[in-house]
Amino acid sequence: MEYKSQNVVCQNCKGNFIIEPEDFYFYEKIKVPPPTWCPECRQLRRYAWRNERTLYRRNCDLCGKNTVTIYSPNKPHKMYCQPCWWGDGWDPASYGRDFDFSRPFFDQFAELQLDVPRMALLSKNSVNSEYTNHSGDNKNVYLSFAAWSAEDVLYSTWVMKSRDCMDCSFVYDKGERLYEIIDSRTSYECQYGLFLKDCSSCYYCYDCRGCNHCFMSSNLRNKSYVFKNKQYTREEYLKKIKEYELSSFSAREKLQKEFQDLIEKGSIHRYIISERNVNSVGSLIFDCKNVTQSFEVNNGEDSKYIYGALDLKDCMDIYHVGWATTALDYECHGCTRIYDCKFCHLCYDDNGVSYSDSCQNSQNLFGCVSIKKGEYMIFNKKYSKTNYLALKEKIIEHMRKIGEYGGFFPPAISPVGYNETQGALYAPMTKEEVLAKGWKWEENILGTFGKETIFLSDIPDKIEDVPDSFLKEVFSCMECSKNYNITQNELLFLKKEKIPLPRKCPNCRYKRRFNLRPLRKLWHRSCMCGKSEHGHSAKCPNEFKTPYAPDRPEKVYCESCYNKEVY
Ligand SMILES: [Zn+2]
Ligand SMILES: [Zn+2]
Ligand SMILES: [Zn+2]
Ligand SMILES: [Zn+2]
Ligand SMILES: [Zn+2]
Repeated sequence: MEYKSQNVVCQNCKGNFIIEPEDFYFYEKIKVPPPTWCPECRQLRRYAWRNERTLYRRNCDLCGKNTVTIYSPNKPHKMYCQPCWWGDGWDPASYGRDFDFSRPFFDQFAELQLDVPRMALLSKNSVNSEYTNHSGDNKNVYLSFAAWSAEDVLYSTWVMKSRDCMDCSFVYDKGERLYEIIDSRTSYECQYGLFLKDCSSCYYCYDCRGCNHCFMSSNLRNKSYVFKNKQYTREEYLKKIKEYELSSFSAREKLQKEFQDLIEKGSIHRYIISERNVNSVGSLIFDCKNVTQSFEVNNGEDSKYIYGALDLKDCMDIYHVGWATTALDYECHGCTRIYDCKFCHLCYDDNGVSYSDSCQNSQNLFGCVSIKKGEYMIFNKKYSKTNYLALKEKIIEHMRKIGEYGGFFPPAISPVGYNETQGALYAPMTKEEVLAKGWKWEENILGTFGKETIFLSDIPDKIEDVPDSFLKEVFSCMECSKNYNITQNELLFLKKEKIPLPRKCPNCRYKRRFNLRPLRKLWHRSCMCGKSEHGHSAKCPNEFKTPYAPDRPEKVYCESCYNKEVY
């Protein structure tokens, strides 16, 4: 069939969006109706299901042991600790039930979700990494999320194949001895940096590549001994650096302010960061071919509306999905190694699974919860292949008739509150707004206040003066006043790297890094360059799509002006 672009009104935000011919072909291929929500609202709906980092402790409903979980103790869902969930002590099929064609699908699915135990959180093949979620293959990783193949990593997010890192976000590959590093790869012994690649011993650097021993500098290529964007000899540089007491909190506070200024006023920002792509449009996308309208994608092909993914092909509308041989998936969240899956949440190693939640190593499931190694099941009940296919088609027909088929699960039946999810960060809403939509809000987010045993003024300025007895103290965050502790590995790391004890809680540190990153949204803007020596008139006429909103303070340049300014 021949398709034309269609202008559609979003049923959620009432704004207009366009469905392109290539979108229609994809929907036809996977037999789903075109979406009724715009791409942003579709992502919002998926955000409402991702509790990535709000952790609780709660007793396992099978063995009674206290465990770390993403479900607050007051949630009505049953929760099993990971060993129990994966173990043979229970049978998800015992919760199987018939589908009732007199009622909507989602009502019945929500009831099933309340009955079948959920796994506490998702952390696979890991050693001594209890406080990790959406993670796997880790060793000694603490309070980190979306961490894979990492070792000795603390308080970080999206850290892959890296070791000895603390307070980092989006370190893609081979990071080592990093602190407060964002959107970087293959770097060693760096502190406070954004967009670093192949760098070592760089401090407070923005957008540097192949550099070593650089300090408070930006837009450098293959440089050494650059201090505040000025070249020095090795001896001069080392003398300058020596003047800073890097282990002192007050010295670091000044440096951090200076760095913030350098990023906002002193650096040139390329309009978009995306590299080694063919025919692709998106922010922070790398090694992609025909990937459009996407954010934070590595190694993707023929995909669109992708948010945070790697190694995927022929997918649309997915969020935190990927990790090898992921293809033909649509409207999924938090899924790994899946093929031909639609409308799935927290499903790993699955094939041909739709409208299912927390199902692992399975094939051909529809409307299932917490199935392990299952096949031909609907609402957790096993069928013959023929009966499965017939009943599945009948349910899809039923869902289509009442307008339920074709979108991700509604946020109203998400097992977590919106304020516990990544939605609270990427698309903040007030409690009133959330409740008005019929979505959930969690009142009892974990955290204590006012229980501190030590005050800010009692913390020594320099890390070398912090005694081991501080491991027993309770601190109060200087930003949100929430209580927090420090761990032994953390203190060892800080002392080794000469970093003062953080005065803010891990969550406020995470939010600071979040605010420095480009958003998952594109704005149409024009180049801010006014340098006539580039060969253009007073102002460069180039226009582009950029993740920097028009009210952001950064100097955003087009590709050609940017290339003239990096050196
Ligand atoms: Zn919308
Ligand atoms: Zn248990
Ligand atoms: Zn805080
Ligand atoms: Zn320009
Ligand atoms: Zn220019």
